[in-house]
Amino acid sequence: MNTKKSEELYQRASGFMPGGVNSPVRACKNVGKTPLFIERAEGDKIIDADGNEYIDYVCSWGPNILGHGKKEIIQAVKNSCDNGLTFGACHRGEIALAEIIQRNIPSMEMLRLVNSGTEAVMSAVRAARGYTGRDKIVKFEGCYHGHSDGLLVRAGSGLLTGAIPDSAGVPKGYTENTLLAVYNNEQSVEDLFEKYGNEIAAVIVEPCAANMGVVPPKKGFLEFLRKITEQHGTILIFDEVITGFRLSLGGAQKYYGVTPDMTTLGKIVGGGMPLAVYGGKREIMECVAPLGSVYQAGTLSGNPAAVSAGIAALGILESATELYEQLDEKGAKLEKTLAESGFNVNRVGSLLTVFFTERSVTDYDTAKTSDTNKYAKFYSYLLENGVYTAPSQFEAMFISSAHSDEDIEYTCQVIKQYRI
Ligand SMILES: *Cc1c(COP(=O)(O)O)cnc(C)c1O
Repeated sequence: MNTKKSEELYQRASGFMPGGVNSPVRACKNVGKTPLFIERAEGDKIIDADGNEYIDYVCSWGPNILGHGKKEIIQAVKNSCDNGLTFGACHRGEIALAEIIQRNIPSMEMLRLVNSGTEAVMSAVRAARGYTGRDKIVKFEGCYHGHSDGLLVRAGSGLLTGAIPDSAGVPKGYTENTLLAVYNNEQSVEDLFEKYGNEIAAVIVEPCAANMGVVPPKKGFLEFLRKITEQHGTILIFDEVITGFRLSLGGAQKYYGVTPDMTTLGKIVGGGMPLAVYGGKREIMECVAPLGSVYQAGTLSGNPAAVSAGIAALGILESATELYEQLDEKGAKLEKTLAESGFNVNRVGSLLTVFFTERSVTDYDTAKTSDTNKYAKFYSYLLENGVYTAPSQFEAMFISSAHSDEDIEYTCQVIKQYRI
């Protein structure tokens, strides 16, 4: 495999961006590599600067559920751009997108469009605090909720791989209201409520964790969170930045049948453009300015080009009746092959992680027992055979509707020939 051009570009990029990248998970440090520079992408394939072609299971870390370069989405963006790139003012698209979101996720009675998942979560937490008049929040070890100060505690993926427990540059005061619980462990949540009960503004959770690798909620866990938050007047926030429109049209809340008070969306909802959403119960969202006193704003929020991409993507998902079943079948096929080859695999629908652990992974501690050197070897093997996966053990493989049966089958053959 010739990657000379990528290596040259990486050298140049390293002079400008820290580590040559604009987001640390792209750096490939943990698998002992330098990043590939991508020239273009189409369907389920990405092509690097040296012309190598790979079947892509990163899918831009989630947004590309319809594959790369979906024609309808690109056309919608082009049409929108013909009318100007940004107005900093109201436009029809915002209503259209809000309608689609609410139709599929009715618990988002009111919502706000923002520009990234980080911003969505940060704003949702602020609204929950403003509404309840409380300061503390509960998050789970290994769940990632973006890089805002208060949430960079045991935050999975990028941080987990790099073995940085917290980020430098975050004053202690910013995280002292962040309480940590153990995913899938009800007792750990009960203990916090016993101690801090009526000080807890919100419990935030990835309803299916996907940033310590995929870790599904055990049966009853989300129902338990619903109940205990209700008992204490605490807001339950589902961070569905990955799971929204991924596990089902109605997200994880529909998939698992548990309704939160607030929801954050990102990734898929922007159709590949920078767009994210937070929302929830009307009475909570009515606390947000200009109706209420919780301030939150954005120059480019509701950007027409991004909104048009979201409308197009969600429109396709709404009309493709069997899409989620098909994604599930493809996922099941990969899972079966991996399991038969002796891998330890967690999967929910089109989200999947191969763990190099002895035990099955149910939380952050078990995820951390993974042998990341073994993962690095597997990663390199896949890449050399034209299969592009995340350069970190603690991420998901994403399957898109563009993954053809042939390419899934090819991936299975490559997996079968690997000796663990
Ligand atoms: C990706 C992600 C975020 C952060 O979104 P950005 O757009 O990268 O800021 C937040 N929460 C979850 C669950 C995510 O997967």
